Amino acid sequence: MPASFEVRFRGVRGSIACPGPGTARYGGNTACIELRCGERLVVLDAGTGLRGLGADLAGRGPLEADILLSHTHLDHVVGLPFFTPLFDARSRFALRAGHLAERGGVRPVLERMLSPELFPVPLGGFAADLRCIDFRAGEEFGLAGGIHVRTAPLDHPGGATGYRVEFEGRSACYVSDTGHVPGKPNRDILGLIEGADIVIYDAMFTEEEFARHPHWGHSTWNEGARLCEAAGADRLVLFHHDPRRDDEAMDRLGADAAACRPGTRVAREGMVLSL
Ligand SMILES: [Zn+2]
Ligand SMILES: [Zn+2]
Repeated sequence: MPASFEVRFRGVRGSIACPGPGTARYGGNTACIELRCGERLVVLDAGTGLRGLGADLAGRGPLEADILLSHTHLDHVVGLPFFTPLFDARSRFALRAGHLAERGGVRPVLERMLSPELFPVPLGGFAADLRCIDFRAGEEFGLAGGIHVRTAPLDHPGGATGYRVEFEGRSACYVSDTGHVPGKPNRDILGLIEGADIVIYDAMFTEEEFARHPHWGHSTWNEGARLCEAAGADRLVLFHHDPRRDDEAMDRLGADAAACRPGTRVAREGMVLSL
């Protein structure tokens, strides 16, 4: 029997957390996804959803995991200091980012976020071993446990990285924080998601909203569907929801997307998909 490969959504919002009765079903936490590749844990982004993952791991002993950041905008990193496994001296983490290799690297950026004026615990104050590794979006690398990762640059202010995590012949892609050019499918993304089993895609905007903000670095479910069709990818999962969109509006958006491309799902906090 092949090892299990699971995707668990811990935070599905973009921009800022938006808890409350209107967002209770889809969830209000920002970007964080837990990938379970057999025994290995890979975390995609460290938004506020990361806190819940840390809470669930409490008391389970030392942890070894890889953290892959799409980029370092706050909605993707602000959960990091609330990830309690970082306070366990026996735990080891490798955190990677692909957009800062030529601009001083990811570590100084996280240090700025955790500077004394902004947060009481500095990056060096965590007990766990946290290694920061920079690469250039477009490179590929291997992780422990037989996991292979391919990456691609995304279309986002300040840069962002898309990931394809491959494990035992299956693949999950994470393409969050990207814009698009209407009528010009992004070739880097097409290459990244070719034939993938799951594609998690930035669907923050409707087409109407996108037309008003074409350079904000966010996309639409329509473009996600077009890319998946062109790349022969299987399941499309909509992600990075606008914090202003309440549960009813998310239902409508999801129904429209599924009518256009059957099988399309809206990411919801707590949702688990198996590959
Ligand atoms: Zn974002
Ligand atoms: Zn961003």
